[in-house]
Amino acid sequence: MHKFYKELKSYVRFDASDEAALRALAPLLSTSFPAIVEDFYERVLVHRGALQVITGGDEQVERLKGTLRDFLATFFAGPWDEAYFDRRSHIGRRHVEVGLEQHYMVTALSGLREQLFNRVSALHENGELNLPLASCLGAINKLCDIELAVMLHTYREDTLRKLQATERLATFGEMTSAICHELRNPLGVIESSGFLLRRHEQDDKKIEHLNRIQRQVHRSMRIITNMLNIVRESPVALARIAPWKLCERAKALLHEERAANVKVALDEELPDVLVDPDVALQILGNLLHNAVDAAPDDNVQVRLSVRADEAVVRFVVEDNGPGIAEHVRHRLFEPLVTTKESGVGLGLALSRKLANQLNGTLALARGELPGAAFALELPRC
Ligand code: ADP
Repeated sequence: MHKFYKELKSYVRFDASDEAALRALAPLLSTSFPAIVEDFYERVLVHRGALQVITGGDEQVERLKGTLRDFLATFFAGPWDEAYFDRRSHIGRRHVEVGLEQHYMVTALSGLREQLFNRVSALHENGELNLPLASCLGAINKLCDIELAVMLHTYREDTLRKLQATERLATFGEMTSAICHELRNPLGVIESSGFLLRRHEQDDKKIEHLNRIQRQVHRSMRIITNMLNIVRESPVALARIAPWKLCERAKALLHEERAANVKVALDEELPDVLVDPDVALQILGNLLHNAVDAAPDDNVQVRLSVRADEAVVRFVVEDNGPGIAEHVRHRLFEPLVTTKESGVGLGLALSRKLANQLNGTLALARGELPGAAFALELPRC
């Protein structure tokens, strides 16, 4: 038998006399099982937290009642061997999977124990018990304790697994962070050298190539910055800034020729926003890049408009592209969701995280142009 089960049985001193007591109780109690099950679910169903995990309605409740009836039948019939405890572990894992919190499981089991005690005591009072009451209650008690330990063990396994996954993610995050840092410098050198070469270049063909290099370097830098920001939690430094300044600086993040297609429309008399300007710029930069990417190459139309109400300043970035592909719409803000051949799928996930850090929101919106529209709402001063 599995070492863990063996140890549990010997620790609570569950032995042949307990097995005999349970077997003797089986025929005396089996008629009460349906009532015990009904009572059990009556109690469970009044608790919202426990109820939350029951998503399949009455049908699921009926199935669960069947499982509990089996649980009770085998509790008294045994055999209490390895297969028995493996099945119990499986039930425990199901509880973990559906997200039933540990305290519900513990208290539910103790409710069951109480019910069984009451029924056995009633049998004793009616003179229907052939065995001493203490040995019957003792056997139930011991097996309930083992059941509880087995269930708790599955919760522990789950916690350990999550801990390991978190550790792996943290290591991955550190590695990503280190690599991104290392890549920033060489990219910076490529960018500035490219810029200098382009400034002194007259040949149109070479200028075109240098522009292309520049665009790809910018793209790589954006991916690296996004990755760095997704793996680390940087503090934000809030400051007042005028929306028009943010818009101008966000446009400047685009390559000159692409920025020319971005029309900025500002309401008059906009209040300042209270944000970390670098963070707000990163969000707007990501939205503008996506918008320009989505627009048709030969007719790029991108609009960045800003309005304010009593609580927020709303920046809307929209384009004349094909709009959001239906199959990614519901997962748009999750990391690694992309429809682009060379996309990474970090821009929107990170932008939403950053918007929340600024006490703002980022969501899909309705625009005037035919493509996609995103609204970034930031707190006004
Ligand atoms: P990436 O740009 O690397 O794909 P994002 O998180 O920025 O990552 O975008 C995720 C996906 O959302 C894109 O691949 C695209 O399918 C969709 N998307 C984002 N912005 C737009 C837009 N303006 N028009 C159409 N689709 C968009």
